Amino acid sequence: MTVAEAEREAPSDFVRSIVRDDIAAGRTAEPVTRFPPEPNGYLHIGHAKSIVLNFGVAGEFGGRCHLRFDDTNPVKEETEFIDSIQADVRWLGYDWGEHLHFASDHFERLYEWAEHLVREGKAYVDDSSADEIRAMRGTLTEPGTESPFRGRPAEESLDLLRRMRAGAFAEGARVLRARIDMASGNVNLRDPVLYRILHAGHPRTGDAWCIYPTYDFAHGQSDAIEGVTHSLCTLEFADHRPLYDWLVDNLPVPTRPRQYEFARLNLAYTVLSKRRLIRLVEEGHVAGWDDPRMPTLAGLRRRGVPPEAVRDFVRRVGVARADNLVDPALLDHCIREGLNATAERRLAVLRPLRVVIENWPEGETGMLTARNDPNDPGAGGREIPFGREIWVERDDFMEDPPRKFHRLAPGREVRLRYAYFVTCTGVEKDENGEPVLLRCIYDPATRGGDAPDGRKVRGTVHWVSAAHAVPAEVRLYDRLFSVPEPGAGGDFIADLNPESLIVLKDCMLEPSLAAPDAAPVQFERQGYFRPDPDSRPGGLVFNRVVALRDSWAKIRAKED
Ligand code: ATP
Ligand code: MG
Repeated sequence: MTVAEAEREAPSDFVRSIVRDDIAAGRTAEPVTRFPPEPNGYLHIGHAKSIVLNFGVAGEFGGRCHLRFDDTNPVKEETEFIDSIQADVRWLGYDWGEHLHFASDHFERLYEWAEHLVREGKAYVDDSSADEIRAMRGTLTEPGTESPFRGRPAEESLDLLRRMRAGAFAEGARVLRARIDMASGNVNLRDPVLYRILHAGHPRTGDAWCIYPTYDFAHGQSDAIEGVTHSLCTLEFADHRPLYDWLVDNLPVPTRPRQYEFARLNLAYTVLSKRRLIRLVEEGHVAGWDDPRMPTLAGLRRRGVPPEAVRDFVRRVGVARADNLVDPALLDHCIREGLNATAERRLAVLRPLRVVIENWPEGETGMLTARNDPNDPGAGGREIPFGREIWVERDDFMEDPPRKFHRLAPGREVRLRYAYFVTCTGVEKDENGEPVLLRCIYDPATRGGDAPDGRKVRGTVHWVSAAHAVPAEVRLYDRLFSVPEPGAGGDFIADLNPESLIVLKDCMLEPSLAAPDAAPVQFERQGYFRPDPDSRPGGLVFNRVVALRDSWAKIRAKED
C-alpha cells in the first residue's frame, strides 16, 4: 500500500465503531474529540498516534477536534513547550481552528464546582500531610482508612477551601479531597485529591491562583465544558474512568463526555516517556529535543522525515486495546516508501576514494545527463560534469573480492552511473595497506552507461567529479538504543547505542547540491538525505533520513 492509498482508505477500529454506533443511535450528532498534551515536554511519535486518532476520527465523522493544554501543574510546564506542541501538531497536518483550549481557561469554573461538591457533602478539606494521605490510601488488597478530617462539616471545609484559594496556607498544608469510598476496590475512588496548594506562577494565569486542580479533577470537567463527546486516552487511565464518571455525574456539567482507552504506542529501541526524554536532553546524551535521533516530532522533522510518513506509520500500527511493541523498521519502511515517491536522485560519495581515469584527457570536462528519478521519466534530468579524477565509494572497491562482489576490483569492468564503463587497472595503497588511489581506463563508446556491442557489466557504482565536487559533512543516524526495551535491565542510559551518530566529514557531493533546498533527496544507492539547519555557506551538513536497504549487506548476511 502506498502512502496515498493508506490515506484514502478509511481506517476501522474499535474507537470508530463506538463513534459510528453513537451516531447511528442518535447519541452523538457530531463527535468532538480533543488532543490533551501536558506542556511539560516536546511531542513524540507516541503523541502522534493520539493526534492522528483524535483528529482523524473527528474529520471522518464530520466533527471537530480541540487542542487542549492540560496545564494544571505549573511547576513543570513552560511556554516553550506550549509553542513547540502547536508547531508540531500543525506540522503533522492538523488544524484545531478556533478550538485552542487550556485547562487553565476553566480554572474559575472548576473552582466553583469544587465548592459545589463541598456544599453537597461530596468533598472535604483534609489537613493531613501527603505522607499521611498516602499511608491512609491502603493497597490493592487492603482497603484504605478514613481521614480524621473526613467528617468535617461542609461550612468548615468551604471556609478552609476559600482560604486555601486566598493563599492563607503553606504548600502541602491542606488538600481538597472528594468524599467517595475509602473501601473501594479501585484506589482512585478512595477520596482522591482534587486540589493542592502550589505557590507557583503559572505560564498563563500568572499569580492568580495558588491552588491547582489535579489531572482527574480538570480533565473530564474540561471535556464537559468544551462539549467533548469522546475523550480518548491511553490504557493507564482505564482505572481512572470510574472517577471520571463520578465527577461528571456529581457536578452540574453542561454535557456528558465519555472516556475510552486505547493502547499507547511502544516503539522498540526507543524511549517514549517524557521523564526519560527530558533526562536525555538535560544530561546531554543528545543535542536537544530536536536531535534527529530523538523520537520527538521535532527530531523527526529535523532529520527530514515527512509528516505523511509519520501519519502512514501510525495508521498502519492501528488502534487497539492490547499493548504491543512496534518494530521501528516499520517506521523506516513508511519513510522510504514516502520519500521514494517524492525525492529527487543525486550522486554523492560518503567515504571517498580517488580514481584517476588514465585515458581521459587532462583538464577536460565532459557533461553527462543524470535522471532526477530513474523510475519517473517526467521528473527530468540534469547535467553532471565528468573528468579525469573522480571520487568513488571506498566500499565499492575490493582488492581481492569474493565471487558475488560485483563492484570495482583489479581487472574488473563496472558501469559508472550515467557515465561510462571503466576497468580498474591498478591500486595504490598507503603504508597500512589501505587503498588511496585507483587507476582505471574508460571506454568512450559506452557514454551514458550502455555498451553498443551489448557487453554487460554486473555492477554500477556512483561517483562525483573531483574537480567539481561539493564537500559536505554527512551525519548518519542509527537507533539511539542498542536493545529493544531500554532500561529493562537497569538504568536506560546504560543501553544507549554508542554508535547512534556517525559523522562523516569529507563527503563529496555532485555540484547541483551546492545550494540545496530543504526537501530530502536520495543519494543513489545509499539512502535519503536532507540538509541540516547547522549548514552554513561553505559548510554544508546533511542528515541521513533513512538508509536504502543495502543489497550487498543482505548477500553478506546470507553467506555468514
Ligand atoms: P508521559 O507519560 O511520557 O509523560 P503523557 O501521556 O503524560 O506522556 P501527555 O502530554 O499527558 O503525555 O499526553 C497527551 C496525550 O497523548 C494523552 O492523551 C496521552 O494518552 C497521549 N499519549 C502519550 N503518549 C502516548 C503514546 N506513547 N501512545 C499513544 N498516545 C500517547
Ligand atoms: Mg500525562
